[in-house]
Amino acid sequence: MTQPVTSFSKALKITPKLGEKLEKLGLYDDQDILLHIPLRYEDETRITPVADVRAGVFAQVQVRVVEHTVQFRGRRQLVVTTVDDADDILVLRFMNFYGTQLAAFRPNALIRVQGEARHGHQGLEMVHPRYQAVSDATPVSEHLTPVYPTTEGLSQGAWRKLMARALACVALPEVLPRQIIEPSWPSLFDAVQLLHAPPPEVNPSALTERDHPAWARIKFEELLAQQLSLTKAKLKRRAERAPVLEAGTDLLAQFTAQLPFKMTGAQSRAWQQILADTRRTNPMHRLLQGDVGSGKTVIAALACAQCVAAGKQAAVMAPTEILAEQLFEKLNGWFAPLGIHVAWLASSVKKSAKTQVYAALTAGEVQILVGTHALIQDAVQFYDLGLAVIDEQHRFGVAQRLALRHKMQTSVQAQIAPQFDAPHQLMMSATPIPRTLALSYFADLDVAVLDELPPGRTPIVTKLIDMQRRADVVDKIAQQVAKGEQAYWVCPLIEESETLELQTAIDTHQALQTALPHVNVGLVHGKLNPADKRAVMAQFVAGEVQVLVATTVIEVGVDVPNASWMVIEHAERFGLSQLHQLRGRVGRGALHSTCVLLFDKPLSATAKARLKIMYESTDGFAIAREDLRLRGPGEFLGARQSGLPLLRFADLEKDLALLELARDAAAWLLKHDEAAAQAHLQRWLGQRGHFLSA
Ligand code: ADP
Ligand code: MG
Repeated sequence: MTQPVTSFSKALKITPKLGEKLEKLGLYDDQDILLHIPLRYEDETRITPVADVRAGVFAQVQVRVVEHTVQFRGRRQLVVTTVDDADDILVLRFMNFYGTQLAAFRPNALIRVQGEARHGHQGLEMVHPRYQAVSDATPVSEHLTPVYPTTEGLSQGAWRKLMARALACVALPEVLPRQIIEPSWPSLFDAVQLLHAPPPEVNPSALTERDHPAWARIKFEELLAQQLSLTKAKLKRRAERAPVLEAGTDLLAQFTAQLPFKMTGAQSRAWQQILADTRRTNPMHRLLQGDVGSGKTVIAALACAQCVAAGKQAAVMAPTEILAEQLFEKLNGWFAPLGIHVAWLASSVKKSAKTQVYAALTAGEVQILVGTHALIQDAVQFYDLGLAVIDEQHRFGVAQRLALRHKMQTSVQAQIAPQFDAPHQLMMSATPIPRTLALSYFADLDVAVLDELPPGRTPIVTKLIDMQRRADVVDKIAQQVAKGEQAYWVCPLIEESETLELQTAIDTHQALQTALPHVNVGLVHGKLNPADKRAVMAQFVAGEVQVLVATTVIEVGVDVPNASWMVIEHAERFGLSQLHQLRGRVGRGALHSTCVLLFDKPLSATAKARLKIMYESTDGFAIAREDLRLRGPGEFLGARQSGLPLLRFADLEKDLALLELARDAAAWLLKHDEAAAQAHLQRWLGQRGHFLSA
């Protein structure tokens, strides 16, 4: 992307220094400034009696100074004791102050103070509030005071002045045709003006709750830009060319014949959808979504078989080495007997072995390549890539997924005769996408769902047990192991310190080994080198290790059917989907499985809510819905999606109706008024890039 250039009109009086700060906020021109909508408002239209001031809530008070003192608490600070008309006391505290400030706080001075109070040593206090000297006749503000998202060195006062200039001299002409705008909504300029300077008659809660028509207009504008951008990406993809994976059905028949099980109805349906996709001339872009243990791997294998039968190579990428290794074992186990060459690639593979894989891949001898991020390194050149499979797709960033797809352009075939734009892409995830996200960020994705678990699974029983009874749990594990079963023991998540987390895992391992002398207790953690990690996993799979102590590295997708117990220590520290994924490690075979969530008191309200959901439900969809409710969609998308312009104004949970309107409007615009669509995109996205689709 080219370096964006700022262009502000002279009338706004933007100095180069201010311009830099605006640029930091992603604001490049006059319109961007007007569209910089306040985050929230402070109500300076009224004076709150000190008795009604609440800790943590913004308030404006009017008080008289009783006295001020300079105190030393480690450093110098100014403490001003004040009272209001009702003689209720409020303390103001300033850590940095100038001598000149003291004059304002002479005894009996009347001041108006704005800020958030907290509980201090002497009752309620405000730290570094704003204040002005006033007289009894000084009027209060007539409208709510906007608070802008900002950056260091750009004060709210500066914002208010800048916005006043912008409102006075920047035009914001309508670019959208009237018929897609709800009649009850204001024009864009009126909406913007109202939000920057709300007149006194506006209901403050309609502003803070963002359900005023002016907000509806702004949110619709934003969602429309997103929908237009996504729809265009989708149309572009539709125009791309991919190789048709048309093949004889021999290989598929052989593959299916050797499977040790019959596919579920859901698996067959998903496979039919994928098969149809790969027979088209434009690239498949499909997400296979299915709860942990629903059997996504075999679908991926079928797609690989289809690709290989068509004479092309398939790439299968997973986010961690343990996961990739498991995929490799499984695929190789299925394909090697059919004479198909499956190769393994990860950063831990020795240089000489790597060089061999590279050469065999470029020569077209390797038919399926399975591995980690190592697949997207520059040295990797395919002969003729036809399919890219990405497991646990939500754990990859957009750039990584694009890099794998790009391997088609660098393949030998493409260099000889470039015919195609992209390989077929199959993404897999156990994390269901909520409807609002499916309509927005993931709108450019076709979805196939595995909504049925393979038969013969016994439901997992979840137990919530107080940490105080941990010893009983250890006894129970000893009994189960004596019966020939296996267990995972997950150590607590310690977000603040990786070292501490590691130490806890080592200690837990030692303690369990001591408590269970006749049991082989293994240990895996993030700091273990991949070869050792693999060795321990292999011992666990073989049943030589009966209890596996692990930090959270026991990954999604690890498949050991004989492991029927899962203990999670300090379960209250884990997120919902993390718990669900961990619990999905058991219940994979015919054994009765149990997941013990050990919790420590006291529990926060959220932790309690999470544990309750885990206790009540094993349905990944229901759990994901709750997760979204507890965390909000921003976090759901995750930091990994960084670089993705998130919605600033619309709230995907609350604004589903607006989102649907925007989707329909986008379709209409692209059909009937391409120019307006273009102008709208330019206004809202301009130099900020576009809403990348996942
Ligand atoms: P996930 O969707 O979590 O990746 P896997 O593909 O690892 O699930 O499948 C979980 C387990 O279920 C594996 O042991 C797999 O062999 C088995 N499995 C998959 N499909 C079926 C089926 N139709 N019937 C019986 N077992 C199956
Ligand atoms: Mg899997």
